[in-house]
Amino acid sequence: MPPHAILIAEDLTPSDVTQLPAQIAGIGLAFSAPTAHSSILARSLGLPLVCGIGEELMEVEVGRPAIIDGHQGRILIDPTEEDLKHYSDARRRRLQRQAFAAAHAHETAITRDGIHIPVYANANTEEDVYARRGQGADGIGLLRTEYLFQERSAPPGVESQTALYRRLAADMDNQPLTIRALDVGGDKFMAYASPQIEANPFLGQRGSRFLLARPDLLRDQFRAILRTARGLPASAVIRFMLPMISTVKELEDVRRLLTEVQIDENKRANGEATGATIAIGVLVEVPAAALLAERLARWVDFFSVGTNDLAQYTLASDRTNSAVAALADPLHPAVLQLIARTAYAAKVFDIPISLCGEMAGDVSAIPLLLGLGVTELSAPLPTVPRVKQTIRECDMIQCRQLAESALRCNDADDVRALLAIGVAR
Ligand code: PEP
Ligand code: MG
Repeated sequence: MPPHAILIAEDLTPSDVTQLPAQIAGIGLAFSAPTAHSSILARSLGLPLVCGIGEELMEVEVGRPAIIDGHQGRILIDPTEEDLKHYSDARRRRLQRQAFAAAHAHETAITRDGIHIPVYANANTEEDVYARRGQGADGIGLLRTEYLFQERSAPPGVESQTALYRRLAADMDNQPLTIRALDVGGDKFMAYASPQIEANPFLGQRGSRFLLARPDLLRDQFRAILRTARGLPASAVIRFMLPMISTVKELEDVRRLLTEVQIDENKRANGEATGATIAIGVLVEVPAAALLAERLARWVDFFSVGTNDLAQYTLASDRTNSAVAALADPLHPAVLQLIARTAYAAKVFDIPISLCGEMAGDVSAIPLLLGLGVTELSAPLPTVPRVKQTIRECDMIQCRQLAESALRCNDADDVRALLAIGVAR
């Protein structure tokens, strides 16, 4: 494959994306969608990806010159001299902005009016956790643990998870490490843990639902977290985040299970200090959870909004289906209402509310998210410096005005138009 190759395919699995050769400069997919897990992984590698182009993409012959524009979602085949100039100028300007943000990446992100917004990174691999330092992230806001153990045929068990979490925790320097409970189902299946074949896997046994049906997996993971915490100072923070909670009862059931494990581990430790602080949180990604956020908040130490799923469930559009995926737009006012509602509950109960969907890396959306009341962000790794830089340019009063206007819009395009005016930038 030549350098700067653009890979064209009908679709890719998440594990295909992690095995791509280094020459790949971008990816064009006939199908799939921006928040499918293959797209999320490409974004975390900093690879431009355009998806849902249609079957005709497969007719492009090997070797044709092309430009991939991940911002506009376009692939230009046989670009003209004018296109080449336009894109190389745009690229130069973008690289300049990135270089400026990277030079300040290690400074805290404080708005113009003095509000500190911690910016974490999303991690899909062990290396991502270590790489957060270079990007200036204030911690890990989402560790997708299912990817850490996806090549196994047997469950990872307590020992190997403890060994891995200890390595990660040792690198954190008191920054929060947010470990998401194994999120199986939807478009993620493991050889050792897969729900029955389902007609609608995204509406099926996913996340915490699956873990309640397989409590052995949840117990082992939490046991490993407790054992990791035990060796750490009390100032260290490990957050354990529960995906796909839709009812208060599910949360109560999971918490009961976690308490049982904790009692058991305390007995086993025989009076040894508990070590790091463990915070338990809910990944708010089902509209029911957002609507009942105030009831959930009493049971948790933090919220994080998963807009990838929240958008697909709010707009009833499969995030991997290119025919409808454009509908699953997190800027839709219905999704924004749910974020605002969750943020309100977090404020009432005085707990932090992060947002860890891909939306957190969309710099144009950041003033809006702050205005909606989100207090922390967790973004795809390569976007962290620009997210921090954008926060520094925000003013909370303007952000709140922007959020109020966005909540009154009819659809996502109106919100996007509002953001383009750049009220708060
Ligand atoms: C989300 O749904 O927004 C999220 C962060 O989780 P995932 O993308 O892994 O489903
Ligand atoms: Mg999710």
